[in-house]
Amino acid sequence: TLDLSWVTTWVDDTVAVVSDNRLRLSELDREIGDGDHGENLDRGFAAVKAKFDALPEGSTPGSALKLVATTLISTVGGASGPLLGTAYLKGAQALGDAAELDADAVVALLTAARDGVVLRGKAEVGDKTMIDAWTPAVDAATAAAASGASPAAVLRAAADAAVEGAASTEPLVARKGRASYLGDRAVGHRDPGAESSSLILIAAAEAAE
Ligand code: ADP
Ligand code: MG
Ligand code: MG
Repeated sequence: TLDLSWVTTWVDDTVAVVSDNRLRLSELDREIGDGDHGENLDRGFAAVKAKFDALPEGSTPGSALKLVATTLISTVGGASGPLLGTAYLKGAQALGDAAELDADAVVALLTAARDGVVLRGKAEVGDKTMIDAWTPAVDAATAAAASGASPAAVLRAAADAAVEGAASTEPLVARKGRASYLGDRAVGHRDPGAESSSLILIAAAEAAE
């Protein structure tokens, strides 16, 4: 079952994978942005780790994810902070005070998270942003849950789709964010935010296995 310990494992794994990929994510951002995406996320998730080392008594999956949200919003400089922060915040709200997530709750979490990013950033699929990872993930999760998959299998479907979605940004011209200033020069480069979102979703799936 997916409960608070799944959230804490997900967060621990995300902290580790963001730290391990800090240079690679900033390198992607150097190609089509300002080169700080890995640093931005690493600063944010290091702060999240400190908060999770002293998680309040009586925390739920929703309250823990809300703590991720507020911490990212206040510590990540750059566009990705408020965007990912809103994803975690809306995802947390979708869970309410439930102690466990079934497959439908996983879909609700991912859908609300994606919708939060769209609400803030107004990006559509194909704009070469993190939405190119999130929306295929939501679609794959929805289909998996509809066919009776377990919560862990729903997360795995989402992660696999996010990985493909991140790769799909390479041939695109950007229509949102800093990369949109580059026009055709963004073609051939993977969007750093789509890549980091795929890492976050892989961590979610691995934490459930
Ligand atoms: P900044 O561009 O301010 O330096 P980051 O480098 O941390 O911020 O994050 C850049 C990432 O943010 C991009 O790779 C992209 O995925 C994402 N992004 C930027 N603008 C938007 C938007 N309007 N909607 C969704 N994602 C966006
Ligand atoms: Mg940047
Ligand atoms: Mg920046």
